[in-house]
Amino acid sequence: MTPTVAQFIQRFEQFAPQWLAMKGDPVGMQLGSTQQSIHRVLVTLDVRPEVVEEAIAKQVDFIFAHHPAVFRPARNLVTDNPQNAMYAKLLANHIAVYAAHTNLDMAAGGMNDWLADQLQLRDVTLLQPQHFQTKFKLVIFVPTTHEEAVRQALTQAKIGQIGAYQGTSFGINGTGYFTPEVTANPYLGQPGQAEAAAETRLEVILDQTQIDQALDLIHKVHPYEEPVYDLYPLARETGPAYGIGRIGRPHTEMTVQDYAHFVRQAFQIDGLRLVTQNPTELVKRVAVIGGDGGKFYPAVLAQGANVFVTGDVYYHTAHDMLASGLSVMDPGHHVEQIVKARLVPLFENWAQAEDWQGVQFIPSQLSTDPFSFVTD
Ligand SMILES: [Zn+2]
Repeated sequence: MTPTVAQFIQRFEQFAPQWLAMKGDPVGMQLGSTQQSIHRVLVTLDVRPEVVEEAIAKQVDFIFAHHPAVFRPARNLVTDNPQNAMYAKLLANHIAVYAAHTNLDMAAGGMNDWLADQLQLRDVTLLQPQHFQTKFKLVIFVPTTHEEAVRQALTQAKIGQIGAYQGTSFGINGTGYFTPEVTANPYLGQPGQAEAAAETRLEVILDQTQIDQALDLIHKVHPYEEPVYDLYPLARETGPAYGIGRIGRPHTEMTVQDYAHFVRQAFQIDGLRLVTQNPTELVKRVAVIGGDGGKFYPAVLAQGANVFVTGDVYYHTAHDMLASGLSVMDPGHHVEQIVKARLVPLFENWAQAEDWQGVQFIPSQLSTDPFSFVTD
């Protein structure tokens, strides 16, 4: 089947759910309709007027961006303003736009893991945990005749994993009581008549990221018009930790000065800004945060890194970093363009696994770096 924007988002948010995003970050659907089918998807770091032109030329119907297209709220929609004109153009061409920003930065296997990978960091861990995934208990009341079908659907979706045990669940038989109203279309019983049905109380544990998928499955497999379930957050069980930065060992022994050259080459950029008092010191541990990560430098020091790679470093923050003895390499914010090369194969894998037909994923060919270097 050809997926809709909504179906694509549902799959994506299993990987990078919106609740991972930092507070106030306008992630998610930005423009257009979630109900439209998608055939050609342009993957981009930024949504800029030239990217919209590219999307139109390539007959794209969905843009997947890292940076939110609508980052500052529009005060009006007067199209003399270039930003508003861009929104108008997207809508007129029926191009939907979705953004995954700090949720993609935090995601396991997301932006900051890609950057750490590009730097060939070893033994990579979180710089600091910022979110723990909550575990949930899902309790489903299902007619005993359908207990097995529901259990199997959940197990197949890898729901109910506890440690090294998969397909864990608990069932207890009982009786469900209900009286369908005249407007109901009951699977069991007659409108207006009290019914008692043999039901099983089926319990499973699941991760926060699995909730939508589990409820979807229940609505598909459970025979009742109104499946009954409870969902409880568990007080003492937490799932995996998430955080924005990554930290690891350098791939080889190098001085700070040499490492700066390595970083420049790793990201294939024309230059980077180096903040250091110790250019000849060896690199011990390296922390990385794509984009504007300067404010995390105390955490970098606390975790024992002596090199921090991040973008958009401010002048006064750089003074504080320098005084602290940390060496900082600012390769610019545009290194996050790695998103294009990394997401396209991931989306192609999902398309295959989900049996999406007739959808093509295209990396934007444009550089959206507003800065260039003048070197002579
Ligand atoms: Zn960014």
